[in-house]
Amino acid sequence: MIFWDEPGYVVAFTTRIGGVSDGVYASLNLTHGTGDDAENVEENRRLACEALDLPYERLAFNRQVHSPTVHRAGPGTRGEPGDGLWTDEPRVPLLAMSADCLPIAITRSESPRAIAVLHAGWRGLSEGVVAAGVHALGSGSLAAVIGPAIGPCCYEVGPEVSGLFDHDLTVDGKLDLWSAAERALRAAGVERVERVDLCTRDYPQLFFSHRRDGRARGVQGVIGAVA
Ligand SMILES: [Zn+2]
Repeated sequence: MIFWDEPGYVVAFTTRIGGVSDGVYASLNLTHGTGDDAENVEENRRLACEALDLPYERLAFNRQVHSPTVHRAGPGTRGEPGDGLWTDEPRVPLLAMSADCLPIAITRSESPRAIAVLHAGWRGLSEGVVAAGVHALGSGSLAAVIGPAIGPCCYEVGPEVSGLFDHDLTVDGKLDLWSAAERALRAAGVERVERVDLCTRDYPQLFFSHRRDGRARGVQGVIGAVA
């Protein structure tokens, strides 16, 4: 896991390492939506929460649909269509899953503490999922971290996608989603933005990648909670 050291919160990006799934899902795959065994996925989610000392039974996640929809999560709420979750309740782990798209966490730097996690690809970004996540946390000083996602080295897009973003973000037909997310966070008023800047397509041992492996693959994600 890749940890974000933010006081008052637990935030980590999962990798492929440390789970029980086999083959193209090896090993820490967090969805059964792409064909993995549901019991293995449950165990992987439990292991990920355990590694962060967070209660698995309170884990919340969406049924992700590339939308700008952000829900308030309760302990253990699962399966609502949407791509963001937020909470101000301590020790409710929120999961956003991705396999090239951006996993993002946003936190309030002051009291009352609150956190949002987002799944954002080109569609969610262009439709405003970042602004929706910031809005859910309300006013005050915010910080954010952008996790592993397909990088400007690898993310080939057509003009129908590149045209949705600032012109300088596409170079030689490749879109810089990392920077698109940073700009969206700053435009929404987030003061401090940190980036992992690791390309999911380039590290097959560490990350699942849709562009690299197609539909039969797992997902990693971000898990975030108020401590
Ligand atoms: Zn790359």
